[in-house]
This record gives sequence, C-alpha cells and structure tokens, in this order.
Amino acid sequence: MKNPPALLEYVGVIHIHTTDSDGTKSHEKIISIAQKYHIDFLMFADHMTLKSKDKEGWHDRTLVIIGYEHEDAREWNHYLVFGLDEPLPKDLSPKQYVRKVRRAGGIGIIAHPDEKRDFPEHPPLPWTEWSTDEFDGIEIWNHMSAWLEGIAAGNKLKYLLNPRALLISPPKETLKRWDKLARRRKIVGIASADAHGYRQKIFGPIWRTIFPYRVELRSLRTHILTKEPLSKDFDEAKKQVFSALRHCSVFMSNYRWGDATGFRFWAQTSNSIAGIGEKIPLHRRLRFFVKSPGDAKIRLIRNGEFFAEVDGEEAIFAPTKPGVYRVELYRNGKGWIFSNHITVVETAFRGKGNLSGKNKNTASGYRKSSGRNKRSGARNHRSSSGTGRRDVKRRKDK
Ligand SMILES: [Zn+2]
Ligand SMILES: [Zn+2]
Repeated sequence: MKNPPALLEYVGVIHIHTTDSDGTKSHEKIISIAQKYHIDFLMFADHMTLKSKDKEGWHDRTLVIIGYEHEDAREWNHYLVFGLDEPLPKDLSPKQYVRKVRRAGGIGIIAHPDEKRDFPEHPPLPWTEWSTDEFDGIEIWNHMSAWLEGIAAGNKLKYLLNPRALLISPPKETLKRWDKLARRRKIVGIASADAHGYRQKIFGPIWRTIFPYRVELRSLRTHILTKEPLSKDFDEAKKQVFSALRHCSVFMSNYRWGDATGFRFWAQTSNSIAGIGEKIPLHRRLRFFVKSPGDAKIRLIRNGEFFAEVDGEEAIFAPTKPGVYRVELYRNGKGWIFSNHITVVETAFRGKGNLSGKNKNTASGYRKSSGRNKRSGARNHRSSSGTGRRDVKRRKDK
C-alpha cells in the first residue's frame, strides 16, 4: 500500500446547543467534557443567538468556535452559520440568509435537510429551499434527527434507554442529494451531534437524560485534514478549519463503532495524488486507496451508485470512469466512516495508453493485503501539536 498525502487530522463535534438556547449545559461544562475526550474542535450553534461569541478561542487544546443556528419565520430551514458576529434578522427568506452568510464571508451548512417524522412534541424541520446554490455544506448525518425519527417509528422504550441504537447510517435520501449536488460543485458533508443534553419523560414522573453530552460527544464526529498544524493564533486556526470544510477535506465517523482516527482515502497515479476533496484526472493507472483504522466493509460509491466493495483494513480500487467518488465503511452492518468526495475528471488530452476500452473490466475493488494484524495508520499523521481526536454523538433540536 502506498502512503497517503501527508496531512494532519483534527476531530471535531459540530452543532452543539447550550443553555443559551434549548441545551441543558453551559459552554464551560461542555468544553470540559470535550477536553476529557480529547476533542480537537467544537462548533457551537445555539438557536438564533451569538451572545456567547466571546467564548470563542483556544481552551487549552480544544478550539472553540461559536456560530448559531438560523431559522426562518416558521422555524423551518435550519442553517448552521459560522463566522458572523451577529445573527441575521429572522424575517429573511432562506435564500436571503444563505446569500448573506456567503457575502459576509461566513460559512453556512444546511441542517437536517430531509428530516421527517411523526412526533407531535418535535415536528420535522426539513430544508425546503433548494433553489439556492450558495450554501457551503449539508449535514449528512444528524444524530438528533435519526433518533427522533426512530422513536416516532416505534420501539420507544428501546430508543429511550439506548439512544445510540438508531445511528445506523445517514439517510439514503440525503446521501443521494449530496452525491447529485457534488457533481456540480464542492459541497461539504458533515456529521452533526445536534447536542442538547436532552431530557425526556419516560413515564409518569420519571425523566431521563436521553443524550447526556458525554454520550453526544462520543458518537457523530467530523474529522478535518489539514496541510499545516492548526495555528496557536485563534483567528488563524478558525480560518484553517473553515478552509478545510470549504475544501471538503473532511470525513465523518460514528465513534460508537470505533475510533476512526487515521482513516485515509486518496487517489493516485504514478505522478499525481489527490486527497479527499480534491480532483484528479482519469488515467489507466489511477487507483483509489483506502486505509481503515480497523476491519470494515469498505464500499466505493460513484455518482451516488455502488461501485465496488472490499472487506478488510485496506482497499485498492481501479476507477474507469470520471465522476464523484466517496467511500462508506460499515461494521456489523452499521455505518462507521463516510468520506467526502474525490472527483475524477476526464483528461483533456487523451494520449496513447490512456483509458481505453480494454480496461473497463478492472473496476472491481480488491483487497491488497489483508492487513488484519497491522496496526492501522491511525496516528501516523496526527498533529504534533497534541490536539487529539476522538468521540461524538448528537440529537436534533425542536
Ligand atoms: Zn435544527
Ligand atoms: Zn440544532
């Protein structure tokens, strides 16, 4: 197996609510939990408020970014906004607030786009304004939405007692939508905790904290890959995080099924290499490489369709067509790691020896070596600055 691009990895938990809106703990308490679990960065997003913006900064080795969750007058079309100093007015249309965030140099991510459920206490809050094309990303996987949809579908007690049981994989509809949009332009896919530390009545006077923050910080996580270590200067470091997100140098994981640190997906020919979020020309020697920090079913997806699959800790795939490719890793049938896309573009000049019909049967993936006993490359490219990476989880707001 070849070596992946030399990148540093930082693990974050995105979309966290506090007592500033409908969460149940303060920033300080949540930050101290995150530090215990060695989370590198936190992105808070309370509803319609930035009153704790001054808490942004480095908190020991955890980078804390304060954004907010915008909503329209009907309380629909939730949008995670980072990089602004004041919330935008609530009377704007979704198209308007998406545009304003971009013009102000912020970053905007559509929250729980395909939420649907029959749960009167928590009606679904989907995204409805798809005529806009100025958002930076989409929440592919939102823990709170997954849980509320599952609980509405039945089996209430099971999900109250074991809230992570519902985190099987991101909604197919959202993945399809993302794969389609990504063929036109870069759109980052993130996993969100949507953490609230939510309490729910089980029966009579018995309440249970369904999603304690310590659980939510240890399930759905977003990992970013950077060329340089995050700066000690907060404003610089924040720019680096935004840049990694905008460039889709990102993968998502569910810590419940194992620490995904060290996962790598890249494309390579004899003279070029592309990491997650990048482009590479089609070539007969082009291969995709996947390194997993543990055994998994490794599935390559092209333009939203299944392309090939391999079991193990490593995989090599030979793409034969242009398109947007990403990988999904499963453990025991449960979604564990989902990468962002690598785009394979048609070569401008198809020289001799380039893609020809005779190679069209080489598309299937194969296992390069079982790698079963090998230590995964998990920390090979960790940051020397010591910001660790690790756990997560989530829930969805009202
Ligand atoms: Zn929301
Ligand atoms: Zn939320």
